[in-house]
Amino acid sequence: MKLLIVEDETRLCQTVSKHLKAEGYAVDACHDGADALDYIAGTEYDAVILDIMLPGLDGISVLKTMRSRKVKTPVLLLTAKSTIEDKVAGLDSGADDYLTKPFSLEELSARIRVMIRRSGIERVDNMISVGPLTLDINRKIAVREGKEIPLTAKEFAILEYLMHNKGIVLSREKMMHHIWNYDYEGSSNIIDVYIRTLRGKIDADFSMKLIQTVRGLGYVIKDET
Ligand code: CA
Repeated sequence: MKLLIVEDETRLCQTVSKHLKAEGYAVDACHDGADALDYIAGTEYDAVILDIMLPGLDGISVLKTMRSRKVKTPVLLLTAKSTIEDKVAGLDSGADDYLTKPFSLEELSARIRVMIRRSGIERVDNMISVGPLTLDINRKIAVREGKEIPLTAKEFAILEYLMHNKGIVLSREKMMHHIWNYDYEGSSNIIDVYIRTLRGKIDADFSMKLIQTVRGLGYVIKDET
């Protein structure tokens, strides 16, 4: 799952982004409103954490622009102010939730989980299924024919991305961008390494292979050949 954090206080931005990455999210970060709109136009995020007080274009204007462009991504506003008027203004502009600084990272995580859960139409009970394979988003495990399969944070992120795009071939580059940040400079061969371990976990013991290689293009997950 991919998040965008928009916060001009660099240290806070780094702390939040590190915390969310440790929880298994892919996180992009930017520091002003104009950049935020560029990121949102170029990538489909599962949620946006948006500071109100930003240099240039403020958070409320970013939010209003997103909503006027029919971007329905859930948005959590961050603010130093905590008056009822501010809260109402934020929610009226199309925010899904609101958090006043200073906040605990645990509360932020909990709010994000709730927000994503509420917005996830196809994520019934926070599960995604492809044929015999189910991914339990809350417990971060895969289940195949009753067998519970533990996953690392990165394996989970890759498998979730594939399952969310069932039947669609994803290139290594696209997967890299989704799972890591745009500034990740490693080789896209890392995707092959993760795919190999995922296959070992979810496909090796079964005759039907769900993760398929499309030569020259990338990988796809599907329950038919
Ligand atoms: Ca700020």
